[in-house]
This record gives sequence, structure tokens and C-alpha cells, in this order.
Amino acid sequence: MKKIGIIGGMSYESSIHYYERINDGVNKKLKELTCAEMVIYNVNFQPIREKMLKNDWEGIKNILVPIAKKLENMGVDAIAIATNTIHKVADDIEKEIMVPLIHIADCVSKKCRQEKKKKIGLLGTKYTMEEDFLKNRLKKNGLDIIIPASKEEREEINRIIFDELCKGEIKESSKNYYQNCINHMIEKDGIEGVILGCTEIEMLIKEKDIDIPLYDTTKEHIQALVDFITEERN
Ligand code: GLU
Repeated sequence: MKKIGIIGGMSYESSIHYYERINDGVNKKLKELTCAEMVIYNVNFQPIREKMLKNDWEGIKNILVPIAKKLENMGVDAIAIATNTIHKVADDIEKEIMVPLIHIADCVSKKCRQEKKKKIGLLGTKYTMEEDFLKNRLKKNGLDIIIPASKEEREEINRIIFDELCKGEIKESSKNYYQNCINHMIEKDGIEGVILGCTEIEMLIKEKDIDIPLYDTTKEHIQALVDFITEERN
């Protein structure tokens, strides 16, 4: 079994699911009392969020690169960042470590490609929707990525993530808001599926809530990590 290092805590509401479902997935495959060998470095999200608001990504990188190195020194075979937004510094982290970084965008694109869906909506924080770091990786993997056209919608989607979901608050009104945003992209852009490009959105929107396939970054990332942990060493 391989050992995985997870940079989590951003937010801890979604990292809980990584811990639980990676163990579940490994146990389902390997049975008995087997669970995952994993190290989760639970980062304090508050200073990271403050740096995000100041657009200080260099500062965020300077916190996270040493953490990735610490995980590597603990003997993990790969590292995963349990949030989409923080993948903005994924390349910087990857450059500084020897072990592979299991990129969340690659995991979700694989699922879209398996289901032969190409024109895909993307919901996430405003950084994830408006900047290129995740979209370019998804595009490189063959997807056409559409984000909500209205700035107002993007701001509200972002607000709901940080003010509600990251604090574990699930509101019916916010679910309806997300459903409307997805429906706008179906009507205006003809999207064939939607990527939940934020690790907390799955707590709000489920498959039954929308009419098109839903591609959840949390679920696909976790599945890829389970596969990695349980695959034979070469
Ligand atoms: N976990 C979220 C994501 O997947 C948002 C919080 C963060 O900025 O890390 O993007």
C-alpha cells in the first residue's frame, strides 16, 4: 500500500470527507481492518484566507511549500491538495517536491472524458472561475469550460462558499441559487455537465438536484487517491 500526504483544512468541512472516504474506499478494496496510510496536514485556513483577500499568493505559497516538503520528508508517495482554489499554487509546490502531486483537475477531467462530455460548466470560488489556473488544466485535458456569465452570479457563488459552506452551513436558498446558475448555463451555453470545482459544493448540490451530469471534484479526487494508495508498487 502506498502512503498519501494531504494538505487539508481549507476548509476543514471538506477535509473531513477526504479522511472518511479515503479510508472507506481503501477498506472496500482491501477488506478486513485495512485503512489508508495517510498524513493530513490540517492548515489553519484563516491566515490563508486573509492572504487570498490581499491577493498575496506568494505568501500562501510560502506557507504551503514547506508543508508539502514536511509531508514528503514523512515518506509519503504522493501529495494532494484538498481544495481547488489552492491549486493556484500547485505548480509552485510541484516544483519543490520529488513525489507526484495528484492534481484535482486531472481527476475530474478523466471522469468527464470517460462519459464523453466536453462542454462543461464550472462552479467554484471566484478565483477558480475567473482565473486560468484550473480552467487551463481542464482545457488541456480536452474540455470546453464555461463559467456563469454574470459577475453578480459569480460573486454570490463565491460568497456562499466562504460565508456558508466553509462554515458547514447548508441553506435551501443557496441551493436554489446554485440550481438557477446551472440552469442559466444549460439554457444559454448548452453545457452537457457541470463541474463542482470547489470541494464544499457537494454538500449543497447533489445529482438529483440538476438535470445534467454532475462532476464533483471532491469525489473524483478521493477516488483517484484511493486508486493510487491501493495500486501495486512497481
Ligand atoms: N475548498 C474550496 C475549493 O475547493 C474553497 C476554499 C479554498 O479557497 O480553499 O476551492
